[in-house]
Formats: sequence, structure tokens, C-alpha cells
Amino acid sequence: MKFSFRTIEPWPGVQAEDWSSWTWQFRNGLTKAEDFARVFTLSDSEREAFTRGTGFQVRSTPYYAALADHTDLEDPVRRMIVPRAEELAPQGQQISDPLGERKHSPRERVIHRYPDRVLFLVTDQCSLYCRYCLRKHFTGQEQAFVGSKDYEAALNYLRSATGVREVILSGGDPMTLSDGRLERVLFDLRALEHIEIIRIGTRMPVVCPMRVSEETVKMLRRFKPVYLMTHFNHPRELSADAAVALERFVDHGIPSFNQMVLLNGINNHAAIVQALSRRLLFLRVKPYYMFQCDPSEGSEHFRTSVDQSLAIQRELWGRLSGLAMPNLSLDVPGGGGKVGLVPNFETQHENGERTYSGWDGVEGVYTNPTSTVEPENLEPYLSEWNELKSQNYGKG
Ligand code: SF4
Repeated sequence: MKFSFRTIEPWPGVQAEDWSSWTWQFRNGLTKAEDFARVFTLSDSEREAFTRGTGFQVRSTPYYAALADHTDLEDPVRRMIVPRAEELAPQGQQISDPLGERKHSPRERVIHRYPDRVLFLVTDQCSLYCRYCLRKHFTGQEQAFVGSKDYEAALNYLRSATGVREVILSGGDPMTLSDGRLERVLFDLRALEHIEIIRIGTRMPVVCPMRVSEETVKMLRRFKPVYLMTHFNHPRELSADAAVALERFVDHGIPSFNQMVLLNGINNHAAIVQALSRRLLFLRVKPYYMFQCDPSEGSEHFRTSVDQSLAIQRELWGRLSGLAMPNLSLDVPGGGGKVGLVPNFETQHENGERTYSGWDGVEGVYTNPTSTVEPENLEPYLSEWNELKSQNYGKG
């Protein structure tokens, strides 16, 4: 099956050469009411948000704003970038640091919540500020690249944290850094023997696909294994340019995953998630997570109820293959980490027998086996695995 992807034309008066330059897109970001008013007819609610100020920066690349239907107030792309008065009205759950990251931060810019993974916030800048951002307390404070003292302290911490296997570069958006800066970070991380995997969390393929050049991707590849974690929320965002950017990562051997957020009035419909997931999979990007929107300040109007999210996930169960299915997940407010949310297919549980009703209502009973091997009996085999690790997984 072949999908058609929309081609986004430069705005009248903008040279194609400028439009396709990521630094031009960055320099010409829309930040003020006047900038947005040139593209959208602002509603009273949007004007009020600009006038009173929401406390969270506003920015979009021209490219991303051009993805919107400019006549539609409820356009999904518009809703993700243009602030509204709802952001100013504190309602429901409002938490400045919903993931409790500050209390899991042993050094500036380092978040260490799980034993084997560390988040390294290399910049606080994004080329676009998503109105529902979970890290509003940090993102967009214009501190940019981590200062040299904090950078060294973060590296020293990682050097001593030998139980860490994965470093996730995040922010902000690490791909707002120049190739030179990014290369320096990757070089320093690769010098740490215990770091096996480096992930780059970036929205650039979505909001500024021109950032993803051949040179950049080839540079990333030199530090393999490097994984791309990107963040598409809506099929509208998968333009022809975005598709080229994603394929460039995959063609250069960079495994690519998508983390979406379920957003009220934007993508909280099974058919929208289905379209997004299928298109991503077609481009060889694995739909990985479908997050419940975190209760950061001013995000109440973006949140779906857990019940609705579970209903969407249940519907997707029959519509999407396992490869295309994102895992519904919620971050426990206050720093409890992620928990998976799975629709309940069990209808009865008695004497080791469980009855399940599948996605289309077909029921069956699963009976536990009469005996199983105790997990401790497998422990002698673990030494083989440890040896493999010390041999760099057979890569020499
Ligand atoms: S790209 Fe990520 S960090 Fe930046 S504003 Fe959006 S959600 Fe927040």
C-alpha cells in the first residue's frame, strides 16, 4: 500500500533555499501574536493568551505552522502551537514538575530515575514549544547548551554511575544544537565503556525536517548504537519532508521509534492513532509509546481521561498489528515512573483458570500448567550472558 504525503510549499515571498534551511527556520520562528496573526486569524482566546502571557514560551517554525489549515480554529497543528486562554485558567490537577524530575536530579541537567537509564538535558531550547509540554519548568528558559561546568559535572556523574547502560539526550531538543556540539556530546559519551545505548529524543523530524541532513545522520551513525526517539502526534504532521527525514535515519541504520501523546480534541480517536501508526510503520518507524498527557501547568484542556485512553487502546487492539501498536503508558505524578495501561480482557479468574474475552468478544479459558521450572534454576545460565556482554555482544 502506498500513502501520499502532503508537500508543504514555502510561504509566498520566501526563497525555497531559505525555506529548506533549518537555521533559517530557527531564526524566523513565530514567537509573537503579530507573527501568528500573519498566518492565522487569531481568536479572542488566543489573543488573550498572548496579551496576558502564559508563562511558557511560544514558538513555532514557519514550516510547522504551514502544516495547519489556517481557517480552522480547531486545527490539530494550530492547537499544539498557539496558546489559548485555557492555559491561564488553573483547573484540575496542575503540577509544575509532574514527573518529579527535580528530586531525581543528582546533578544539574541529569535525571536519574531508573537504575540503568539516565536523561541528560543537553539544552532547554526547542524549535517549537508544544503547549502541553511536560517539562515547562525547564524548557524554553533560554539557558541553551549546558554550561561547561555543569557539562563536566554531568559527565563525571555518568563516569561514576557504572550501572547506567543507556543515556537519553533530551531537553529541550538536542537537535537544536549544531552538529559540532552534538558530536562532542556523543564523543564524550562513547568514551564511557558502560554506556551501551544512546537515545536522541527530538521533535525535529516533525517540526523542522530540514534539520535532518545526510551529514548529520552520517555523523550520528558513527556513534552507534544510537536510537532515534521522535514525537509525531497526528498524521497531518507526516508530510513528504518529514517522511524523507525519517527514512534518512532508518536508511543509515538508526533504529527509530515514535512516542506520541494522547491529546484531547487533537488525536483522541482510534482512527487517528491508527492512521498515524500505520504511516509511521510504513516508514519503518516503530510506534512505541502512546502517553497519557501529564498534568503540567496549563495542560488541563489537553488531557484525556484514563478511561477514554483505555477505550482507544482497546479499539486499536483489533485494528493494528503488534508492530504498529504503541504502548499506552502513564507517568505516575510526582516521580513514580511509567506504568503501562492495558485494557482488561480478563472476565473471570478462578482456581488457576482465567477467562478472556478478545477484542471482538470471542471468549476462551486459559488454564495454568500443572508445574513450571522455578526461575532460580535458570541462574547458572546467566554467567554465559555476562560473558557475552564482556565480549561486546560478539562485536569484538
Ligand atoms: S519538543 Fe518536547 S521538550 Fe520541546 S516543547 Fe515539545 S514536548 Fe516540550
